[in-house]
Amino acid sequence: MVRTSLVALAAIGLAACETSAPATAQQPPAPGLPSSMDTSDPTANLSVTRVVPGLRYVLGRNVSSNTIVVDTSAGAVIIDTSRPPASRAHFELLQKDGVTKAAYVILTHGHGDHTGGVQLWKGAGGKVVTQENFTEFLQYQRMLAGFFASRNGAQFQFAGSQGAAAAQPGAAVRAQQAQLNAPALVPDVTFGDHLSLDVGDTRFELYSTPGETPDHLTVWVPKLKAAFIGDNFYESFPNMYTLRGTRPRWPLDYIRSLEKVMALEPEIVVPSHGPAIVGKAEVQRQLKKMHDAIVYVHDAVLAGMNSGKDVHQLMAEIKLPPELDVGEGYGKISWSVRGIYDGYAGWFNGDPAEMFPQGRSSVSASVVKLAGGPKKIADEAMRLLGQGKHVEALHMTSIGLEGAPGDKDVLRARVAAFEALVKVSSNRNELGWLQEGLTKAKAGLN
Ligand SMILES: [Zn+2]
Repeated sequence: MVRTSLVALAAIGLAACETSAPATAQQPPAPGLPSSMDTSDPTANLSVTRVVPGLRYVLGRNVSSNTIVVDTSAGAVIIDTSRPPASRAHFELLQKDGVTKAAYVILTHGHGDHTGGVQLWKGAGGKVVTQENFTEFLQYQRMLAGFFASRNGAQFQFAGSQGAAAAQPGAAVRAQQAQLNAPALVPDVTFGDHLSLDVGDTRFELYSTPGETPDHLTVWVPKLKAAFIGDNFYESFPNMYTLRGTRPRWPLDYIRSLEKVMALEPEIVVPSHGPAIVGKAEVQRQLKKMHDAIVYVHDAVLAGMNSGKDVHQLMAEIKLPPELDVGEGYGKISWSVRGIYDGYAGWFNGDPAEMFPQGRSSVSASVVKLAGGPKKIADEAMRLLGQGKHVEALHMTSIGLEGAPGDKDVLRARVAAFEALVKVSSNRNELGWLQEGLTKAKAGLN
């Protein structure tokens, strides 16, 4: 990963990157950056990529899924539909490319960056196909719509959306209401473990492949020797725990699902984010590397837990060996380590103080007082920052603000800590939360 590019990216700011660009300009992510770091306008600079005759896709940008088209004698089969507003742009581009009639719309899973264009494709005749856990998974997201509204805003920093820091009081509740009032997406066809679907001259085999979500599926088209793997593979270690909040994403599910896809011996894999992988050997190489990386992290967490190490120690210690380095532009090893640890053991960390409702912040005012007041805390944070201890400086300001809410000296140190962290971050989701924290701290200074 190229440090100079990251600094430039950070300097521009994620939200500011979301400006519309001339339709002809090419704005791929900076060289060396994975597609997860693409924060450009998701409706601009789109094109149709043809993989082999009968298979094309529009590459999704800025956390919007690809829209994939498989042609059959009975019309197109659409796999994933992107997120608004990219979904409409993908739809219109494909209509111009001749995809006017859809036979089916297959959703690899129920995340909003894949389901945004479903109504458009239904309008073109597509029957919606999902795995049977789809409805329950949508219900989970709808039940927590208010929570996810602010969490998604913070993490993705999309233009036009409000992060948690900027949200008006009640905005999350209104967003929740809007989602609850939206018509539920009801699939026309569902299946449990496996479904064979004959569409005109083409057979589609659908398999349940849980990983990123419990309703996740993989599409296999034997005629093309092509697998459509959804979000169980992208150009980064998987986001096995996403900071916006998730139930455990189980490593053993990812592992088994990747094995299921590898056993099909595909010659083409089109993931739902990032470009197609072409060539039997290359597909096996990339999928096996991801598989082995997940196995490595999972086994290292188990070994660490059994030897009595705590979660922060394992977050710091567990690193992938160079031959399994799959990048951390979207998911991070340390978050996955904590996700796996907590997935197996739950929230209690063994400190008896944690059994009680009074959290550590209940004594922060005393700590600040003993330190000599919030100015001393701010000074210490700046001293740590000067030593390159950015995270420790941030911790210091968290204690300072708990003990002395709204203190300007502490807030100024906090702004400095966030600015330092933004400059060195190389992970899309981490950057979102750092930007959110920075916005919030700056707002406190006004
Ligand atoms: Zn996705």
